[in-house]
Amino acid sequence: MILDKEVLRDRLDRLIWEIEEARIKRSEHLIVQLVVVSKYTESENIRTLYELGQRAFGENQVQQLEKRVNELNDLPIAWHQIGTLQTNKINKLIDLEPFLLQSLDSIKLANELNKRLEKKDKTMDALLQINSSYEESKSGVKPEEAVDIYQEIKERFNRINLKGVMTIGAHSKDESKIRKSFERTYNIFEKLQKDGAKICSMGMSGDFKIAIESGSNMVRIGSYLFREP
Ligand SMILES: *Cc1c(COP(=O)(O)O)cnc(C)c1O
Repeated sequence: MILDKEVLRDRLDRLIWEIEEARIKRSEHLIVQLVVVSKYTESENIRTLYELGQRAFGENQVQQLEKRVNELNDLPIAWHQIGTLQTNKINKLIDLEPFLLQSLDSIKLANELNKRLEKKDKTMDALLQINSSYEESKSGVKPEEAVDIYQEIKERFNRINLKGVMTIGAHSKDESKIRKSFERTYNIFEKLQKDGAKICSMGMSGDFKIAIESGSNMVRIGSYLFREP
């Protein structure tokens, strides 16, 4: 559904206000970046949000990202790849030159990505995805292995610039479980700051306030903006 500019303006304003409230609760010094996840919506709505000042957008499939980049190539958007990256899509992703790959989820993938970046003489900024809720359906490295894997990727793969960590909150109605998965990720992020980690990406439409209260400095929000009222 293509949404009116005024509708999107209201929703974006409300979202930014709610992010602001959660941020102040955590710390006045915390800065939270908003990545709008556009996977469920039309390119027209992305264009409207761009006109309203939004610059960072995320897609979870490389194919979809390619379509967006082509349709919106007149706009200098910072595109984030947020979904699982399959090996056979690595070359395509490199060619699209994303602003940030948020879903680097194994040493094996890092190895493949690094090889192909080398061949193309390019680099890529990335976040290490952590499976902070230990859910089998989710990608990401185990929390207790995350620090070692982060350091190994940093040492071995010089074409990948690790910028921090990303997680998806626990799939649960129990708020304490969700909070725990975010706190677990934030603790890892804190340990990795000496290795240059700057971004802690956590929080989606249903749980971004808990994520920010737990220290997130990047939220990825889709349905909050685009769902039918
Ligand atoms: C879809 C998606 C989001 C956004 O989810 P909403 O609940 O629609 O805000 C965030 N992160 C990832 C990895 C996603 O796949």
